[in-house]
Amino acid sequence: MMLSELYYFFFLPGNLPRTFVIAGMLLAVSIACLGFLRLCCCSDDDHTPREMEGLDQVECPKGHALRAFIVPNQTFNCDGCDRKVPAGCAMHGCRPCKHDLCESCVSKRLEALQTDQADSEEANEA
Ligand SMILES: [Zn+2]
Ligand SMILES: [Zn+2]
Repeated sequence: MMLSELYYFFFLPGNLPRTFVIAGMLLAVSIACLGFLRLCCCSDDDHTPREMEGLDQVECPKGHALRAFIVPNQTFNCDGCDRKVPAGCAMHGCRPCKHDLCESCVSKRLEALQTDQADSEEANEA
């Protein structure tokens, strides 16, 4: 198709309604794409707890499952690495025991648990 044909296809007065419909659709699609990208790219630094696979295997010292929450004020410290966790960040903790872990400590424990499991499974097979 020649450029001029393309031009007439879109901009001929009789075609204008269709041109607007197409433009509107393109606009809607790009807005949807942008929204989707925003959701994907910002999942790390927005302030919602990440869902981690196997998270319920990480427990507090008394064996309670940890729950994700958002730090509400400046008084929270991580019981794993002793770092102060600023308000608005995600943590995983056990309220009754006041045992809180930052996300990096939780994922470290999770990794350790999973390696343990893999090891014991291998040991069982051997
Ligand atoms: Zn920590
Ligand atoms: Zn507990």
